[in-house]
Amino acid sequence: MGDNNNNKTLSFSESVNFMADRAMSVLDIDPGIAAAIKACNSTIKVSFPVEINGKIEVFTGWRSVHSDHRLPAKGGIRFAPIVNEDEVEALASLMTYKCAIVDVPFGGSKGGLLIDPSKYTREDMQKITRRFARELVRKGFLSPATNVPAPDMGTGEREMAWITDTYKHLHPEDINYLGCVTGKPVRHGGIRGRTEATGRGVVYAIREFFRNADDVENAGLKPGLGGKRIVVQGLGNVGFHAAKLLDEEDDCKIIAIIERDGVITNDDGLCIQDVRMHINEHKTIKGFPDGKFSEDGAAGLEIECDILIPAAMEAQITKDNAENIKTKLIIEAANGPVTFAADDILRHRGITILPDAYVNAGGVTVSYFEWVRNLSHIRFGRMERRHDEMRGAHMVQALETMTGKQAEEWMQKELVYGADELDLVRSGLDDTMRNSYQQMKEVYNENKKITDFRTASYVVAINKLVRSYIDIGVY
Ligand code: NAD
Repeated sequence: MGDNNNNKTLSFSESVNFMADRAMSVLDIDPGIAAAIKACNSTIKVSFPVEINGKIEVFTGWRSVHSDHRLPAKGGIRFAPIVNEDEVEALASLMTYKCAIVDVPFGGSKGGLLIDPSKYTREDMQKITRRFARELVRKGFLSPATNVPAPDMGTGEREMAWITDTYKHLHPEDINYLGCVTGKPVRHGGIRGRTEATGRGVVYAIREFFRNADDVENAGLKPGLGGKRIVVQGLGNVGFHAAKLLDEEDDCKIIAIIERDGVITNDDGLCIQDVRMHINEHKTIKGFPDGKFSEDGAAGLEIECDILIPAAMEAQITKDNAENIKTKLIIEAANGPVTFAADDILRHRGITILPDAYVNAGGVTVSYFEWVRNLSHIRFGRMERRHDEMRGAHMVQALETMTGKQAEEWMQKELVYGADELDLVRSGLDDTMRNSYQQMKEVYNENKKITDFRTASYVVAINKLVRSYIDIGVY
């Protein structure tokens, strides 16, 4: 990952392990269990040929299972021109910690395929994805019971639908085949709210932070999320949904958006929906009429702001630019955007960081809901919605009879309402992000050796993992 710590180049997985070590050093853990927690269980590398335009091309991919103390192991599959075994293993280990932090009962896994999806047609991508899925199924790295992928960089609903269909054809007898992958389209067994879940979870994390006045003050920020000046890097799935909500619901000013080809700025705030539409149409942020464009995207990270949200990829804030970051709060929406060495610098500079393993856990949380929905073969809310509405209507009638007055319109609306699947998903996600924040805060406040949220988040996760290892025993 090209960052140095004590003159040694750290890979992504070393960087994650160093962060885990920091947390383990404040806990009194048996060194054997510590080593067992950090070790990556298994990784496969597959290379397979696919015929593209009459020519054979060979593709390479990986799937890594970091932990299987809980099954299935869970984690996204990314399609990117730069993926390697170390990166996949690092991301798989982050999944282990992430699931533990947010109490999702899964092990940690991750996959990657070395490919630039923009160079292939839809038909080619379908052939390649299906072939990759077949390799994973055959080698025992994809099934509803043991290993369940989800979308990540460069993959989405479309790829998840192809993967499900491939698994179904290989295992038509598996009644739970829909649970072999999450992040599927709703009409193919997906759950409402999954696509936006990671970005929405990021916003729920920020809102919870701002509910804690002491943390806001410690970060050197004024109370209240409204009006905060925010810089977002990466307007993909995670970044777009997070930025859109902050712009439209929280009254924040997104003053800069950094993308692959540069940065656009507007001190009065950018309209996220308009930027997205511009990107969809022109495939670039360049030329967006309501913002100033510069090709120097890296400089965008150094713009003075209240909140910086890296939502693109790993290793964006390194020891080379950490001294120049001018924000009070970093929200790690991407996985591993701050390297271990940069984290050290930022901590010493007093910049508060909400860590990736907590911040972007909304995706796996709603994936968990989707998997449960697939195994129960019924949409959440289907049985109780009308019943709840009827009870609400009876309550309104009872109140009207008792008071002799007609209930106001808002009472009618609020009480005579049964939650649908999207309401329940959002409620479960919000609850998860709030609870997990409070768990982190509790260990942060209780243990004087902990001075940052990242270490606190790892301590929360490691405590749960240790308990799990001790309960199960090591054989
Ligand atoms: P995505 O491919 O949808 O979006 C990534 C965006 O970042 C794209 O718009 C891309 O153009 C931009 N980008 C890439 N490199 C960049 C660079 N160097 N500078 C600026 N912009 C750049 O991916 P995503 O699913 O939104 O994932 C983003 C990050 O969030 C990744 O680290 C991923 O692992 C993490 N994450 C994703 C999910 C999920 O549910 N999708 C869940 C948890 C974590």
